[in-house]
Amino acid sequence: MLKKYFTLLTVVLISSTVFCGTSPKPKNIILLIGDGMGLSQVTASVLSLNNDQFKKFPTVGLINTCSADKLITDSAAGATAYSTGYKTGNGKIGVDVNNKTLTNIFEIAKKKKKSTGIVVTCSVTNATPAAFLAHVESRKSEFDIAAQILNSNVDFLAGAGTDFFLPKELGGKREDKKNYVDSMKAKGYEYSDDSSKVFSLSLHKKFFGLYGGYALPHGNQRSYTLGQLTKSAIQSLSKNQKGFFLMVEGSQIDWAADKNDKEYLFAEQKDFNSAIEEALKFAEKDKNTLVIVLSDHDTSSLGVSGLNKETGVLDVVWATRYHTANFVGMFSYGPSSSLFGGIQENDEVGKKLISLAQSR
Ligand SMILES: [Zn+2]
Repeated sequence: MLKKYFTLLTVVLISSTVFCGTSPKPKNIILLIGDGMGLSQVTASVLSLNNDQFKKFPTVGLINTCSADKLITDSAAGATAYSTGYKTGNGKIGVDVNNKTLTNIFEIAKKKKKSTGIVVTCSVTNATPAAFLAHVESRKSEFDIAAQILNSNVDFLAGAGTDFFLPKELGGKREDKKNYVDSMKAKGYEYSDDSSKVFSLSLHKKFFGLYGGYALPHGNQRSYTLGQLTKSAIQSLSKNQKGFFLMVEGSQIDWAADKNDKEYLFAEQKDFNSAIEEALKFAEKDKNTLVIVLSDHDTSSLGVSGLNKETGVLDVVWATRYHTANFVGMFSYGPSSSLFGGIQENDEVGKKLISLAQSR
């Protein structure tokens, strides 16, 4: 009997430590996704932008980003692995390979009475944010994703997306005449399409900000940074004593790499770095926040090939114009950060995040 008891205890202890370990659990989690940010993008960022943010993370790991059906993932399957803990087919959002709904980490955080937030530089209906807010068979269903966001109960949502929330008559692209901005307001959200307002929010209400039809202007063509949006989100979400889960995406790093556009890439990377800086600033003070920076996949396999001594700008070469299967980096800081070292599958990372979101 005693032997049986100890065997059972061992099984329980092993299974409870597999994902969560014995280290302190974070109250808050900030997940920063540099879309398409391969290791070489990180290298270029550190070398060219004098960016020391990445050096502040005590744990560094690598992620195999392949999806359930392809060696090379797209952003939908990539983000779904992180938001649900399951690999799925390319193009799918929050559903498995058979289109069965998967519970996502926002839904789990809500059950624990935590607040949730999203800050992105693309439309909030785009693949990466959608994986945390919706469940659809195809990432192309952005009008449906907007409808699902109405019922997501997210607390802070900032990015672009008027195309999908407003009818044609009001400057959007909806043909069903529905005005989902009004619907969000009716649900109690404070809405703004003026980016300057997000920095002077009363922050007592849920917030919904859309600053463009399909995307925010490039990082070097707007008066505010992703870091400023992230700071506002953290100020708002951290009012919840139970904690929060915030996902921030540098969405256009991928688009710049797709275009093999170095200048655009560096502007987006610099903008994303400003978000990392704000997340770390909060976590260093709070001491109860896990910060993880990772990517859904590498894009275009950038190579740092030299340095122009006159301009101080890096020379780069590109291997392709789409995603690759190159492993991406994972940088972790804060309670339980040690769980995120070594080489891991993307769904394994998602399962650990969910386990931590449930742990307190
Ligand atoms: Zn992507």
